[in-house]
Amino acid sequence: MDSSMLEAARKTSKTCQIEGCHEITVGSRTALCRKHRNNRYKQNYKKKKRRAQGSDEMQNESIESQLAEEKCLMEQKYASMLQQVLAEKQLELLQSEKVIQALRAHQKKVKENKIKEIQERKVKKEQEPPKEDTDQGNTHYVYFQE
Ligand SMILES: [Zn+2]
Repeated sequence: MDSSMLEAARKTSKTCQIEGCHEITVGSRTALCRKHRNNRYKQNYKKKKRRAQGSDEMQNESIESQLAEEKCLMEQKYASMLQQVLAEKQLELLQSEKVIQALRAHQKKVKENKIKEIQERKVKKEQEPPKEDTDQGNTHYVYFQE
């Protein structure tokens, strides 16, 4: 196969196979453009539906699978709803005045304790003979961002 033939083959494979349509195909496996592919899907779906209605067994099967699918979807929906509600509640809680005050109070307390500790250490140092400070790097502050 020479290169021009290859090029021609590539070109035809890329345009819709429906006569009179020059749209580019979607995907490498379909020889149809988006519109015609959708039409074909719809037709297949209708055919399938008709076939299913013709047979009780198949109808039952499809109802069962539909119910199972629906149940699965509902479960997913509930799970995500629950997640959403929890996230909202958490956000609400974090933004509530009570929690903010509690966090601020906690931060203040930690700070005050630290200041007190430092002052006590200073007093101790002044009273005792000086010795090496081994307590460095042992400060822990809790910061609350506003
Ligand atoms: Zn087309």
